[in-house]
Amino acid sequence: MGQNEVFDVTIIGGGTTGLFAAYYATMRNLKVKLIESQDQFGGKVMQFFPEKLIYDIGGYPDVSGDTLVKQMIQQVNRHQPVMLTKTWVETIDRVDDHFVLETLDGMQHVTKAVVLATGSGTFHTKKPDNWDDLPFPEYRDSVATNLMDEDKYEGKDVVIASNNRQAIVWALHLEGKAKSVTIVNENDKLQQTREEDIQQLESSDTIAYNAATITNLVVDNEQLTAVEIKDHNGQVVKLKADYMLAYYGLALQATPFDAWDVALNKGRILVKGDMATSVPGIFAAGDVVQYEGKTNLIASGYTEAITAVNKAHKFIDPSVTEQLYSTVLYRK
Ligand SMILES: Cc1cc2nc3c(=O)[nH]c(=O)nc-3n(C[C@H](O)[C@H](O)[C@H](O)COP(=O)(O)OP(=O)(O)OC[C@H]3O[C@@H](n4cnc5c(N)ncnc54)[C@H](O)[C@@H]3O)c2cc1C
Repeated sequence: MGQNEVFDVTIIGGGTTGLFAAYYATMRNLKVKLIESQDQFGGKVMQFFPEKLIYDIGGYPDVSGDTLVKQMIQQVNRHQPVMLTKTWVETIDRVDDHFVLETLDGMQHVTKAVVLATGSGTFHTKKPDNWDDLPFPEYRDSVATNLMDEDKYEGKDVVIASNNRQAIVWALHLEGKAKSVTIVNENDKLQQTREEDIQQLESSDTIAYNAATITNLVVDNEQLTAVEIKDHNGQVVKLKADYMLAYYGLALQATPFDAWDVALNKGRILVKGDMATSVPGIFAAGDVVQYEGKTNLIASGYTEAITAVNKAHKFIDPSVTEQLYSTVLYRK
């Protein structure tokens, strides 16, 4: 992929909306690039609720967040668009009849049309201050910041490091599955808890709670074996651990819409039914858009992605048919 290779449509944001837009655009034979800032696709679904069941997507009686995203990646790979991760789009400039997108790594991406599927931005996992001293990168496989691939916790000792309610949600989810679940929090109380959460925690025989600071991760042969903690009396204890789950909240890095010149309404991109932004050639879909009757749901993002891609296609080539049936396109 040369720096100046021209794509038909470049989609910014690889959440569920961007993934579906990328699939749909390649299904319509467009040359597509998808750019995502995180190291994984799936957006909010993967960052907030990969383990939760979703019940409001047509065709799925229920589906967990990570299964949905895995299936979407399988779907988008059918036509193999160019898909980049760890790439943050900083600027979008119109140059002659193309757009040039510049990313934080200094690369330029040239495209005839753009679809914005950025949500409000991207979320980064917060960490306690002393964690920079802990040997995380080396033991990344043993430390997770969301509850994906939860079968790996079956019969294992799990430590949950958190200062808020998420610890209880995860602990209850793993109760009966993991061999042991121990919550470690600096304080006696987790933030944002409800009375019923405390009752559920107290009535559990298998979930333990420690008010302590994590002082080290004990590792044998690149595998986590224990989490060392120090309680308020200075006593140091090693908790047996195969895995550690950590959650200290998420911080939003907002997408630089102001620099992209698109008209906004309350921080979201103003569109009408055609998903066109105020800049000709730039379309938008998903949680990022605002219009009368907008719902922030995964399924709404899918429909908006179809419209945005079809309109982008028409922008590039006014002679194309706006809508095509997949049953007709594939004929199988
Ligand atoms: C707790 C919770 C529960 C929910 N439950 C449901 C539910 O049950 N059913 C349902 O339908 N919906 C639910 N939703 C809503 C659903 O998650 C969203 O509607 C959906 O995820 C929006 O997808 P999106 O792709 O539009 O945006 P996002 O998922 O926000 O994806 C945007 C992507 O763009 C990337 N990005 C942003 N800026 C840039 C940039 N400058 N460069 C490169 N990449 C960038 C981000 O990293 C991110 O991956 C829930 C939401 C939350 C928070």
